[in-house]
Amino acid sequence: MYIGIDIGGMTIKAGLVNDNGEIIAKKTIKTDVGHPEKAIQDIANLCFDTAKEGNVDFSDVVAIGTGVPGTAHNGVVSFAANIGWYNVDYAKMLSKLTNKPCYLGNDANCALIGEWRFGVAKGYKDVVAITIGTGVGLAVIVDGKMLLGNRSAGTEGGHIRIKERGLKCACGREDCWELYASTTSLLRRAEAIAVANPDSIIARLIAEKGLDGFTVFEADEKGDKEIAKMIDEYIDDIVEGLVNYVNVFRPELIVLGGGISKRERIFKPLEEKVNAKAYGGKNNPQVYIKTAKFFNDAGIIGAAALAMQD
Ligand SMILES: [Zn+2]
Repeated sequence: MYIGIDIGGMTIKAGLVNDNGEIIAKKTIKTDVGHPEKAIQDIANLCFDTAKEGNVDFSDVVAIGTGVPGTAHNGVVSFAANIGWYNVDYAKMLSKLTNKPCYLGNDANCALIGEWRFGVAKGYKDVVAITIGTGVGLAVIVDGKMLLGNRSAGTEGGHIRIKERGLKCACGREDCWELYASTTSLLRRAEAIAVANPDSIIARLIAEKGLDGFTVFEADEKGDKEIAKMIDEYIDDIVEGLVNYVNVFRPELIVLGGGISKRERIFKPLEEKVNAKAYGGKNNPQVYIKTAKFFNDAGIIGAAALAMQD
């Protein structure tokens, strides 16, 4: 039995996970932002409570894994800006409180480890994982090893330039991929269409229900031609970034995460488009694209998988 901890900006989730990657029990607490010592004490108690919730004696927990939204190096959180942690000796502190081996990783990397061990990436040696949400995240397995980078700083795959339009990115550069491939971008484009065409299907739907992913795809299904064209362009922008990573890492598999990757309209055309555009085209081995198996529980399962160090 293992415990996986998923630290987020709002909540900390813990799950008791068995050797098959199944969650036996789950518990959630609020994140005490900016107070790492207090938070780690809370996490230790959360571990005890989660084991109890699953009717498992804490002595049967083999190890604890944690995914953190930031840079994790040798058990230390180097920095995680949105929870206000800097140089926190996390694994050692939690291990002292729980008397268990504790492992720490970046949350995006943990999610890929979960897919690798228990999900759609099982058995693959070269994998690129892309998560599309309000931003765009990347995790990479090369030759059967997780790519960590210097001091485990990890990858910032959303921040490669793909266009020359002068859109400013929060990272300080212009025209980063995430400005075009994130769900934020999709919503921004839909809103612009609605404002320019007040009588359109999308404008009517936004007035009725508000703007979200559902409204955009509903407008598309109801025949809004501007929205359909916009979604096609959005898909092509996702493809641009994917092809860049295919050319660099030569993955056998791309795992796509984030709610939008479950949309047939987005997901279906990707594999053919990416294979057609990747360097070498048909002369190169096929790249497969799959939707992630784990969504809301990806953090917990991934963190637990990180703790399974065999
Ligand atoms: Zn950027």
